[in-house]
Amino acid sequence: MPNTKNLNSLSQIIKDEINKVENKIDTANVGQVVSVGDCIATVYGLDEAMYGELIIFPGPTYGMVMNIEEDSIGVALFSNVISIKEGDLCQRTKEVVSTPVGDCLLGRVVNAIGQPIDGKGKIEAKEYRACELPAPGIMERDKVNEPLETGIKAVDSMIPIGKGQRELIIGDRQTGKTALAIDTIINQKGKDVYCVYCAIGQKNSSIAQIVNKLKQNDALKYTTIVNSSASETSPMQYIAPYTAVSIAEHWMHQGKNVLIVYDDLSKHAVAYRTLLLLLRRSPGREAYPGDIFYLHSRLLERACKLSKDLGGGSITALPIVETQAGDISAYIPTNIISITDGQLFLNTDLFNLGQRPAIDSNLSVSRVGSSAQTKIMKSVSKNLRMELASYHEMLDFSRFGSDLDKSTQKILTHGAILLEVLKQKQYMPLRMASEIIDIYVAQSGLLDDVNPSDVHSILKLLSNSLTAHHSDLFTRLETGTTFLDSDKEIIDDLVKVIKTNLNINKE
Ligand code: ATP
Ligand code: MG
Repeated sequence: MPNTKNLNSLSQIIKDEINKVENKIDTANVGQVVSVGDCIATVYGLDEAMYGELIIFPGPTYGMVMNIEEDSIGVALFSNVISIKEGDLCQRTKEVVSTPVGDCLLGRVVNAIGQPIDGKGKIEAKEYRACELPAPGIMERDKVNEPLETGIKAVDSMIPIGKGQRELIIGDRQTGKTALAIDTIINQKGKDVYCVYCAIGQKNSSIAQIVNKLKQNDALKYTTIVNSSASETSPMQYIAPYTAVSIAEHWMHQGKNVLIVYDDLSKHAVAYRTLLLLLRRSPGREAYPGDIFYLHSRLLERACKLSKDLGGGSITALPIVETQAGDISAYIPTNIISITDGQLFLNTDLFNLGQRPAIDSNLSVSRVGSSAQTKIMKSVSKNLRMELASYHEMLDFSRFGSDLDKSTQKILTHGAILLEVLKQKQYMPLRMASEIIDIYVAQSGLLDDVNPSDVHSILKLLSNSLTAHHSDLFTRLETGTTFLDSDKEIIDDLVKVIKTNLNINKE
């Protein structure tokens, strides 16, 4: 028969011990995992955790506070292999999610939270920057009026992009969206523009190819790649563009010009939808959460041109969006179109016809316009869009009738030459002066009497002989403000000579 007095004291001891343990656990800063699954951990405790705060789990596995409820907290986990289990303890870091920043990131490939994934060793960062930060206010900004040269004739002439602008690249799958962005990065060589390429939800093999191409073109040294591939969890894909823009922002605040590419935001929206459905937030239109517009607007607002007082740095953003069957009026495309300062629309039909880059001059627009163009470029390209528009209009009419009058025929021949001149191979961005020369020659009508298939050989010969005998003309076109008549004459004469030498006039 056990002694009841003894039992009473034993239960008292147990109660005291339990009290001691409870007092030791500081529920404000420490929490306990109640459940875990699909890269979301529900945590009890962490009473004082803030939205967006970094939480550390055993492993260590990191997570970010995404849901704050009355007696639990939803944490999105930044790890592909989730080793934590029910009952594990986790701790507040009292810091929001941040990324290493600075020049040590140039030439590196990092994951969505700034950790290196290129096998080149640790990143020795002196500074860190929060991933989510408010965008600069209106008073801190300056006008966008300096061109960001893409090196692509069709863009620089008709849809010029300025430093600090947000220009959407939009089109169906496989229409050359990534190619356009990568060419723009390659073209920044020697122009003192840093680049950040943020890949969201793509295959690791495509990213490896892009890294290789950048390396081959000597462009990796001024570029950082933030990669959150399709195999990674939705929280990683969600945070990647914010990490990328924080890396860019650090340079912008140092007075540098930065170009950032988000490839692509449709996949980012899908990752966010997955994440919030897992967190049991209520779905809205197309099952996207109600704040899907805010998701992208707070990201793209961070691209701007800072005022002179703040160093005059800039972030130019090229977000990419994929459409389904060319439908730009779908939910995510319209959202992003309304946030950006214009769009480059890539047309599948043009792409399949061999018109590459497949920029649709009717649907593409840059709201900054010609204020982001040099004077000479503006003067040679001012009629280009109109001429292409009338070409397309006439082309539609000419399909009905066989007899075409002379003026219609002229518009058609000239338009075909213009389109031919605007074709450009991948990984071959051109310097500004070469773009001006090509467009000037196309506009002048000097090529209207040759076959479109001969256009590129003539332009190549012209460029070679100008480089050999008139290299000063290139400098004049890039630094001057007027296209001198004497320079035009040099070009006209050379084209005529090349045409006679090649004897390729159309009969
Ligand atoms: P996805 O929707 O799969 O991301 P995308 O729209 O980004 O595709 P890209 O991958 O850039 O398209 O290009 C599709 C294909 O077209 C690639 O094989 C690329 O090499 C080719 N391509 C793109 N631009 C050009 C060009 N200017 N000249 C020739 N080929 C090109
Ligand atoms: Mg792509």
